[in-house]
Amino acid sequence: MSRESIEDRIKRLHANGIVDLHFDLLMDLYEKRERKNVLAEDFLSELETGGIGVVAAAMYIEERYLPEMGLRVGLDQIARLYVEVQSCDRFAICKNYAEIVRARASDKIALLIAMEGVEPFGTDVDLVRMFYELGVRVIGLTHARRNAAGDGGIFASSGSSRDGLTAFGRDVVRECESLGIIVDLAHINPAGFKEIFELTTKPLIVSHTNARKYYDVERNISDEQIKMIGERRGVIGINSVLVSAKQKESTLDCYIDHIEHVASLIGIDCVGIGFDFFEFIYAQWPESKKKWLAEKLTTPHFIPDLTNHSHGRNLTRKLIERGFGDDDIEKILRGNWMRIFKEVL
Ligand SMILES: [Zn+2]
Repeated sequence: MSRESIEDRIKRLHANGIVDLHFDLLMDLYEKRERKNVLAEDFLSELETGGIGVVAAAMYIEERYLPEMGLRVGLDQIARLYVEVQSCDRFAICKNYAEIVRARASDKIALLIAMEGVEPFGTDVDLVRMFYELGVRVIGLTHARRNAAGDGGIFASSGSSRDGLTAFGRDVVRECESLGIIVDLAHINPAGFKEIFELTTKPLIVSHTNARKYYDVERNISDEQIKMIGERRGVIGINSVLVSAKQKESTLDCYIDHIEHVASLIGIDCVGIGFDFFEFIYAQWPESKKKWLAEKLTTPHFIPDLTNHSHGRNLTRKLIERGFGDDDIEKILRGNWMRIFKEVL
């Protein structure tokens, strides 16, 4: 196949837009709240270049705001998104499948609001409904740290808390399922992961993670956990910053290895994209904060040709080179997540 025809094929495969189920957009919009048009100026061009059609914009509350400012900063992060979308008509905040389809039909980038950690709720389960009213449609109970709902998986092959969810965490999960919020198992510790299956019946997702087969830390997921997601007909989004413990092995080929591994265990219908592009935030940090992250969690290993949304075509090109057919590429890039939106939202 000639070079040009591969590029044409990428263009065709991107026509409906890639779905990325995890992007730390909201905390960045919040930190840049003194500026206007951040979405248009800092993000639009990369999203368009990479052919991104749907993005889950995640809220995350940094330690320095907790506990007192958790709710306040969470609300402000959502407020920032609404204000920014108001001033840039290339984006639409979507709350269900039909709205996503409508946004894409008018060539807008669809944004789903997600939470990475439920710290803004404190211990008040009624706030799940309030955040649902504000548009939140994907909720992961925890990041790496413990909170009122449960514990995160640590960046080591064992040693996470053996506790499951708290009573509050169980209430949040039940409320999500009854409201039609997608429950996201990214970051939760192995005990919490298992418990969420016992509390739910709908498809469960892991928005951004990697296979422990290639990077054995409890923050990632084991073959057994991958199979549990498959049995529930959920979807696992492959993360770009934790494909390997070693920087030199953090390559686009390794990223595809994770996709192939998940597909080999539970089928091509249950794997998708959750890039977790983070370099733009990391680059803004002082050295002291990078050191803190390395000590507390891990050093992120960015894949050189997959560090931001403008690199979307590199992924599709590599999938083609690795022999994936059009139907399978379409499922990985978009179709599988769209099925989840249709079934859960
Ligand atoms: Zn994360």
